[in-house]
Amino acid sequence: MARELLTARLDRKVCISESAQCFHLEFSIDGVKEFPFAPGQFISAVAVDAAGKQQTRAYSLASAPHGKQFELCVNRVKDGFFSNHLADLSDLDSGDTIQVHGPHGLFTLREPVTDSILIATGTGIAPMRSIVQKLFPADGSDQSQGKDIWLIYGTRHASDLYFREEFEALAAKHSNFHYLPTLSRAEENWTGPRGYVQEHVARIVEERAARLGQPLPQPTVDANTPPADLKFDIHAYICGLNRMVSGVRDTLTGFGWNGKQIIYERYD
Ligand SMILES: Cc1cc2nc3c(=O)[nH]c(=O)nc-3n(C[C@H](O)[C@H](O)[C@H](O)COP(=O)(O)OP(=O)(O)OC[C@H]3O[C@@H](n4cnc5c(N)ncnc54)[C@H](O)[C@@H]3O)c2cc1C
Repeated sequence: MARELLTARLDRKVCISESAQCFHLEFSIDGVKEFPFAPGQFISAVAVDAAGKQQTRAYSLASAPHGKQFELCVNRVKDGFFSNHLADLSDLDSGDTIQVHGPHGLFTLREPVTDSILIATGTGIAPMRSIVQKLFPADGSDQSQGKDIWLIYGTRHASDLYFREEFEALAAKHSNFHYLPTLSRAEENWTGPRGYVQEHVARIVEERAARLGQPLPQPTVDANTPPADLKFDIHAYICGLNRMVSGVRDTLTGFGWNGKQIIYERYD
């Protein structure tokens, strides 16, 4: 069955990292009042390439729902089609448009909110920004129910840390929001965390278990337990390229975590 295509009009485009050629794009959808979605979901964008072939690519929604607007965070990919098509859109005059369908996806916040470790690399930060905006809305309220929320964001260089000021401001405001940008190829003057995201995930899990007096590895959950009876006090949300996602999943399962505690989205 053909999916309903929506026309999204570009309102604003900002290059948020020159070195990584990453763009923050804001769109409004024509002819609707609202564009509802769950933070963490993605839209599918559709366009015809130079050979006349219809191409579809997924892009995570990079903001919490607000009216008929949505935001994306897109990196140029060398020799890629769609990422460059989006990066080349012009928001001058009436605004370029794209065709999208959605929202789609199950990479969404589990309810009730528990302690959560959000782990992203590169543009994998997009759905995390949406989830964080839901937990800590712009009106200053707090929907996190006092749970500890860690955002571990791995990139090579400080110049590739997208939305850094936003997350730093939120962390300064909410003592239960912990922003951990970690660089794998940090410049000498970088004073923050270094290394790969996996190392920080492991440290957080170990420190938390010690603080709460929980055993590590955690006891295995009986495979016959009905889903409704599965209650976890912490979840991890992982988004980025497959290699990183697999590495973090391995780290967490090594601590005895159950697969249902680990929610992930792979971009490749
Ligand atoms: C659920 C989901 C959500 C996504 N959300 C985002 C998002 O928010 N922002 C975003 O920028 N991308 C996102 N992606 C990736 C996106 O869908 C495209 O794969 C990406 O933009 C490249 O498409 P392209 O047409 O430019 O490249 P293509 O023409 O498809 O590929 C060109 C070349 O680039 C390589 N390549 C493809 N994808 C990537 C990649 N992600 N990184 C590095 N090299 C790649 C290919 O191997 C190929 O050699 C998401 C993917 C999924 C599955």
